[in-house]
Amino acid sequence: MDIIDGKAISEEILEELRHDLAGSNHGRAPSVAFVRVGEDPASISYVNKKQKVAASLGIESQLHVLPVEISQEDLIKQIDLLNQDDTIDGILVQAPLPQEIDSNTIFNRVNPEKDVDGFNVVNAGRLCQEDKEGFLPCTPAGIVELLKRSNVETAGKHVVVLGRSLIVGKPAGLLMMRQHPFGNATVTICHSRTKELAKVVSLADIIIAAIGKPRFVTEDMVKPGAIIVDVGINRIEDPSRKSGYRLVGDVDFDRVAPKTSLITPVPGGVGPMTVALLMKNTIKAYRKNIV
Ligand code: NDP
Repeated sequence: MDIIDGKAISEEILEELRHDLAGSNHGRAPSVAFVRVGEDPASISYVNKKQKVAASLGIESQLHVLPVEISQEDLIKQIDLLNQDDTIDGILVQAPLPQEIDSNTIFNRVNPEKDVDGFNVVNAGRLCQEDKEGFLPCTPAGIVELLKRSNVETAGKHVVVLGRSLIVGKPAGLLMMRQHPFGNATVTICHSRTKELAKVVSLADIIIAAIGKPRFVTEDMVKPGAIIVDVGINRIEDPSRKSGYRLVGDVDFDRVAPKTSLITPVPGGVGPMTVALLMKNTIKAYRKNIV
């Protein structure tokens, strides 16, 4: 069993992006605007991390914090202002949004050419059409990079994705099945209505777990030698920690890992890749914007 070191691979990507940016001079740095609604601690921490990594690459970022009680109309107005600002290349509205706000309406309001999160309907459509102009959602694109850079052959493999969200499961399945050297897999997507889920998962050569349930995938569900990408980020109580909690994935890592050939840890697997791929999308948006 080997561990896929997402931290190391993400640093490799960031280094490539740094190098790429150093070779270009277009009069101004790339820029990204983050919109955060409310004070959800996980969202605060994710946006902080993204801003820190952006700064380390010389990407300018701005943060717009809006009150949790903001109306959908006012949030749309804020996005329109960012859409109209030519000096902003990328816009990211941090999910989850308050329940009263329709996330898809907000994602679709972001100018598709600034949609560095890849959740806009235009970019979702481009993904379906396998159009390279589009922005791929960062977490699924990060999963592909992890597999690619770990020399995992996906063509003809059976990939089982757990979860069908717009953010992870659905696009991860689409990427795995696309006609591409790092796609061409046979994909099964499972969700809360899937019957005999354990049996389906046990047929997988590659498992992508993205359901948000701590240690849901147990060793009896996993075929010997399978490859696992664990997307889940779940807080569980841990009185031995100062914070009182620790992060675990959707896979029961300690018991499952010995049965696999390759597995991502949590933390240090998919998480850092999501941030690295966001930076890649931001630079892509910048290049499109400055020409
Ligand atoms: P969502 O809650 O949007 O989606 C969860 C999916 O899992 C749904 O499709 C749901 O099915 C399915 N599901 C839930 N419970 C079960 C079950 N018991 N059996 C089968 N399927 C089930 O979550 P996200 O996709 O946004 O996130 C998933 C996980 O990934 C979370 O832990 C999140 O924190 C993490 N995450 C990590 C990122 C990273 O960078 N590492 C980035 C984004 C997310 P149904 O559709 O039927 O309800």
